Amino acid sequence: MKVGDKVLLKVSSDYIISPDSWESDVKKLDNTVVTVTVKRNDSWYAIKEIDYSVPAAWLHEIPQSSGGTITMFITALQSFVTRPAAERGRGAGDDPRYYTGGTMPLRKSAGNMYSFVTHTWNPIKGKCFHDCTYCYMKQYPLGELRLDEREIKADLGEGNFIFVGSGTDIFAENVPGHWIIDVLNACLNHYHNKYLWQTKNPKRFLEFKSGFPENSIFCITLESNRHYPKIMGNAPTPEKRVESFSRLYNPRMITIEPILDFDLHDMLEMVETILPQQINIGADSKGHHLPEPSAEKVDRLIIALRDRGYYLTLKSNLKRVTGGIT
Ligand code: SF4
Repeated sequence: MKVGDKVLLKVSSDYIISPDSWESDVKKLDNTVVTVTVKRNDSWYAIKEIDYSVPAAWLHEIPQSSGGTITMFITALQSFVTRPAAERGRGAGDDPRYYTGGTMPLRKSAGNMYSFVTHTWNPIKGKCFHDCTYCYMKQYPLGELRLDEREIKADLGEGNFIFVGSGTDIFAENVPGHWIIDVLNACLNHYHNKYLWQTKNPKRFLEFKSGFPENSIFCITLESNRHYPKIMGNAPTPEKRVESFSRLYNPRMITIEPILDFDLHDMLEMVETILPQQINIGADSKGHHLPEPSAEKVDRLIIALRDRGYYLTLKSNLKRVTGGIT
């Protein structure tokens, strides 16, 4: 089965309730993303605004005019996908990268990460744009940022919980959108897995929001409420991360690691803005001499979060900071 078929399945089952009563406005953005804004009864339906991330090769087949119905849009996509590859020309549907059965094995999750993650998968490799000083990947030779064609063909199996992009932030500003679409489509093709997506740039979660597999958990790293430009490098400020992430309504996690000195009231306010289902807290493991909070402050944060009913997981490396208080 081709990836495009799965995308259509998701599109049609999620949103098309009463197609004939909807109008669509299809726009072409950056040559890679199609946005369909839906309106009903002459008023734009803001909450139901939907974005379809569609492979670039489909764009010439999609009606570019305003005022068509959603049915027309879906029909155009379906007719393109179901046409023989020879008629379609070379595009997403007949690109060998979209077929399963590749040779790259998935990596079993190891080390000090998340206990629920079974595997890591890094289809995009290379130096991360964010350039955080504490990044554990800096100990390895990384090379230029690139899409690894062999990884894209990897058999992701089923029943796995896969952390996608554990080695570089695949949602950083400099990652081309069509690479992200390739990664999402590979995951949609293995929909019996769960996927963890973690970034410091959740603005791009919103850019691709309906292109993610259903069993996805989204996470941001939030080391502190404070912005430490020398440590956080090119990553968006904590404030910007929170602002974007709070607009995502899917299952959400926050990872406060490596924890940096923070302001309790502001930190709690950020968490309350996001309302995550889970919060993970950990500390620097590699002696980067980061500005860390006192044990008492971490303790107060943990108590305040538990009082508010948040589910916390505390990494064992946090004990170095707390001295075992928590
Ligand atoms: S965002 Fe993550 S992968 Fe990128 S430099 Fe920072 S710690 Fe490393």
